[in-house]
Amino acid sequence: MNLDLLAIAAHPDDVELTCGGTLLKMAQQGYRTGILDLTAGEMGTRGTPETRAKEAAAAARILRVKYRGCLEVPDSDVQPSRQHKLRLATKIRELRPKTVILPYWEARHPDHYHASTLGYEGCFLAGLKALPIDGEPHRPFKILYSTAFAEVRPTFVVDITAQYEARHRAILAFGSQFRRPKGVSRKKHHKTNVFLAIDKLEDQMNLLARRYGDMIGVKYGEPFLQKELMKVDDVVDMEVRSV
Ligand SMILES: [Zn+2]
Repeated sequence: MNLDLLAIAAHPDDVELTCGGTLLKMAQQGYRTGILDLTAGEMGTRGTPETRAKEAAAAARILRVKYRGCLEVPDSDVQPSRQHKLRLATKIRELRPKTVILPYWEARHPDHYHASTLGYEGCFLAGLKALPIDGEPHRPFKILYSTAFAEVRPTFVVDITAQYEARHRAILAFGSQFRRPKGVSRKKHHKTNVFLAIDKLEDQMNLLARRYGDMIGVKYGEPFLQKELMKVDDVVDMEVRSV
């Protein structure tokens, strides 16, 4: 499929929350983008997997991705097992992304940090000729990590001010994750702990976007890390003011 950019994360809505603005911005610049959810999020207390799949498709349309798929790893079982790695490597060979965005390698939820390792190893294995899987070998050129933590210093920040509204709409598309479903009393809805859900996460991510936007002199930004150094050719024409 030759995607330019593929974001891989553990659960549907992880990508929207962490790097949805960047995905849309790249699509607007003409790049072919995609999202691969490792699980269908079936362990979530809200919404059925079917509902979440519909929501994920709606969010994907808003972010204008050319591809959205699910690797169907069981939710809460994301780990770099041989089986999962080979499945992911097969998918990488199909999609052939140049750049991949993975979750940051440390997190509270095991699915999130395992998604980072599984993602890295799947990308690596996809390039090995002798691997017992279908498809032409392909290894992404660049791996970026998208972080959701204020205490992790990113290596660069993408200005998503112009995409911020659409990112919000893409997050809203996951309606089952925070709205009170019809026929469920307010009291019962509270009992399912629903307000700990996506709207709270979005608040945190919006604060983060504001904070990092501010640090690069714009309104909203999404933070990323890369393990390599950045190469710069023109130190006179560099953005972000020092003084
Ligand atoms: Zn998640």
